[in-house]
Formats: sequence, structure tokens, C-alpha cells
Amino acid sequence: MIRYSLRCEQGHAFDMWFADGATYDALAGEGHVSCPECGSARVEKALMAPGIPRKGAAQAMSNAPAPREVARMISRYRAKVMAETTDVGRRFPEKVRDMHEGLIDHAPIRGEATPDEAKSLAEDGIAILPVPPEPPKEN
Ligand SMILES: [Zn+2]
Repeated sequence: MIRYSLRCEQGHAFDMWFADGATYDALAGEGHVSCPECGSARVEKALMAPGIPRKGAAQAMSNAPAPREVARMISRYRAKVMAETTDVGRRFPEKVRDMHEGLIDHAPIRGEATPDEAKSLAEDGIAILPVPPEPPKEN
């Protein structure tokens, strides 16, 4: 059940319960929802009654992906990086710099860089992306 705060064309406010939003739409659309004060069937939804969780509103608020989905996305991204890059380990900063300077061919690589090394690369206009850590496994 869902409670709507309604208002008629005369400005009378009243609350009514409906099985769901679709039921309200159907009834109101056919003029079966009328103001208890003046009988007008020209009513419209006012603000939602507080404290009544509404399905639509809850869904609108949770547009951001759920934590589980985020974990899956990170996991997929990580797997893709792992599959498409070569691990050069500690030689990463040096390799990236060499690539940037055209000393060696560009290739997708991954490896280790300290925060200082990453900062130094960024200062030289070399963008590197952190590989996200593997999210904890779902139980
Ligand atoms: Zn009225």
C-alpha cells in the first residue's frame, strides 16, 4: 500500500491509500479519485506523505551502483589490465619514461612505481593509471 498526499483543483489537501502507484494512476485517470471535501475529481499528487518509503523514490536514490557491482567492475577492469599488459615490475617507471621519450616501442605494461615515482612521471606529463587492488571476495 502506498499513501499519496493529494490536492484537488480547489486546493483541498487530503491523503489516500492505494495498492500501488499504477492503481492510483488508473483510478485518477478515470476520475475515480475525488476530493472528500468538494467531490472534485480533478486531483493531483501533492508532496509525498513523509515516512512512507516509496519504491520509485528509493530506486531513484540508489542510481549509484551497489558496492557488490562496484567490486565486480573493479575485478573485471583489473582482470582486463592483467590480461592486456606485461608486468615489468620495478622497471616500470624507467620503461614508461623510455617509451615516453621514444627510446623503446610503446607497449602496454604494468609494474610498480612508488608514489614519488608516479608523481615524477606525472610532472613530466606521463600519465599512469593505478591498477586497483583486488576487491575482497564476496562471501
Ligand atoms: Zn476539494
